[in-house]
Amino acid sequence: MADKRDYYEVLGVGRTATADEIRRAYRTQARQHHPDINREDGAEERFKEINEAYEVLSDDNRRAAYDRFGHAANGASGDPFGFGGAGSPFGDLFESFFGAAASSSRRRAAPARGADLQVTVDVTFEEAVFGVEQEVELQRFETCEACHGTKMRDGQTSPRCTTCGGSGEVRRVQQTILGQFMTATPCSNCNGEGTMVTDPCPNCRGRGRVSRARTIGVSIPAGIDENATLRLTSQGEASAHGGPAGNLYVKVRIAPHPLFTRHHKTIQSQVGVNVAQAALGDELEIATIDGPVAFTLPAATQSGQQFRLRNRGVPDVRGGNRGDQIVTVQVVTPRQLTDDQRLLFEQLAASMGSEITQQPSPRGFFDKVKDVLGV
Ligand SMILES: [Zn+2]
Ligand SMILES: [Zn+2]
Repeated sequence: MADKRDYYEVLGVGRTATADEIRRAYRTQARQHHPDINREDGAEERFKEINEAYEVLSDDNRRAAYDRFGHAANGASGDPFGFGGAGSPFGDLFESFFGAAASSSRRRAAPARGADLQVTVDVTFEEAVFGVEQEVELQRFETCEACHGTKMRDGQTSPRCTTCGGSGEVRRVQQTILGQFMTATPCSNCNGEGTMVTDPCPNCRGRGRVSRARTIGVSIPAGIDENATLRLTSQGEASAHGGPAGNLYVKVRIAPHPLFTRHHKTIQSQVGVNVAQAALGDELEIATIDGPVAFTLPAATQSGQQFRLRNRGVPDVRGGNRGDQIVTVQVVTPRQLTDDQRLLFEQLAASMGSEITQQPSPRGFFDKVKDVLGV
């Protein structure tokens, strides 16, 4: 190719330029003639030329060969590296790149969603069982009502960024020994937005969002479990880039109850009875989450024995039956006796004798809970 320009001339550097100077010159030239930026005819050809020159001059061996033999060092084809030529392994890549660049309707990635927010709400044990309407207060970014998020005064349309042509990114061709690669970095002029805020909205100062204190109603469903998290779609922060709002995650913290503990749908409680009640049985009133209920303690109840109160537990949070309440009976030995009681116990002792039963060590509380729950 007789009209092929000198590589040094292409990059605008002297023949004695250092590697650094060559790299800097390449960057300047490539930026200036990048087809994404430069819409003039021939910019694409010029850009290819710059890349070809840089590929040779940035490689010490090739540069030395070029210095001695000129373009002849690269063979007769004039396209020594298959640079974007037909049949080149990089041809397709290059084609699609320039195809995309030439197209005026740029495909941009979907705008980023607003940030998610998380709040914690405290509910009582009962509220977690039966459900409650709660209010949470939070501070969040909302779309500016004056500009509707356009960031421009009176909601005008913001003009396209002149640096990136509206794509929001600057693409660069990188030469490596494996060939050329496109790298895309966010445009620094518009911060990747693709548009410029030339006349900022005074209400949001061109941010498109404003911070607002809000009180949000949250429906805590009956049966919610400890540390469960509710998602309120699109109740998070507004997007700064015109995307959808983030979500609000509400973490539910359940206060402990003085009488009840909870294992998912099962409520557990304990009652203490005296030795006479345990031996003879009794009619009791037992506290449940629904209030006191009548319960017949059978005769010969052993300490640690458990009873199941059906449907006195926690409703299924997805709807369905309530769980049960498990009542553990503890036989409480009196710490103090009246004279009458002492006499009666002495008579009882004489009647029952002083024999003891040898038995293996009792099973633990959790084994018993497992028995009752059938797990
Ligand atoms: Zn605004
Ligand atoms: Zn830009």
